[in-house]
Amino acid sequence: MKPSAYIWKDGYIAPLAKSSLASFHQGLNYGACVYDGIRCYNTKRGPAMFRVDPHIDRFYYSAQTLGMSLHFTRAQMRKAICNVIRANKLRSGYVRPMAFYSESKMGINVLGSKITVLIFAWKWNDNPVTQNISLKIVRLRRLDPRTVDLRAKISGYYANGLLGFLEAKKSGCDLPLFLDTDGCIAESAISNIFIVKKGVLITPKTGAILPGITRDSVLVIAKHLAIPTRQSRLKPDDLKNADEIFLTGTGIQLQKVSSIKNNFNAKETQTPLTDRIRAAYERIAHGEDASHRHWLLRV
Ligand code: PMP
Repeated sequence: MKPSAYIWKDGYIAPLAKSSLASFHQGLNYGACVYDGIRCYNTKRGPAMFRVDPHIDRFYYSAQTLGMSLHFTRAQMRKAICNVIRANKLRSGYVRPMAFYSESKMGINVLGSKITVLIFAWKWNDNPVTQNISLKIVRLRRLDPRTVDLRAKISGYYANGLLGFLEAKKSGCDLPLFLDTDGCIAESAISNIFIVKKGVLITPKTGAILPGITRDSVLVIAKHLAIPTRQSRLKPDDLKNADEIFLTGTGIQLQKVSSIKNNFNAKETQTPLTDRIRAAYERIAHGEDASHRHWLLRV
């Protein structure tokens, strides 16, 4: 899927086609790049960014983790994100801010290197994707939080997600499910996991996962709907008698899992709890629920 025609580059809206980027730099060589992904939803009052501030905070946290000091304020980034949506005349979409070490030089020493900040946008349909997903618990373990800071979204980490994805695909499944180095359920390649058991919504606790913003939204919404939640350590055996399983992420929102190879097969086509949470999420995202209107920023 090609990005929309206009991007934001180091302070200015620019045509994507005319934006030259050096092809050899530390961002590419060492995955020395940070990014985030933010949804824009169509509402009755026009397009609105969903939970833009936690995304911008995470973007700055990721940058700081990689030793980058960004030359734009949070307010400038927020404005730039809205400008990219406007420049591309999008009503709903996905926006990706990125920052990377962009000097064409060899070696791991990024100190003092130039940093390029870009914001891309894609036109994305608002309609919920209802496709069911099959997962495979992959042999490769999730990155260990003692080796990297998993709360940051650093491009280099995604080699782990990508290898898991390839392993899952090889066995005919859609996506990987990673265990952490202790053998507990962690997350998928770019999404978090929830299971429903006897009316309780359970998700792996933070530590060996990226604590997703959609995961947080789901926990808040569940509380609002008086659905009991638990963040705990889950073993593969805990999946076997789950009633419902779904993944969450900015891109996929909430997506049902139909099977996890050798561990779970959706017994029922009915997924009442997932459906309730998803419906509430959609109402909020489209500005139809005043209780969480503060999660939206009008473009
Ligand atoms: N885990 C990983 C590794 C991810 O890259 C993502 C996508 N950002 C998620 C979980 C879901 O996070 P969010 O809900 O903030 O998009």
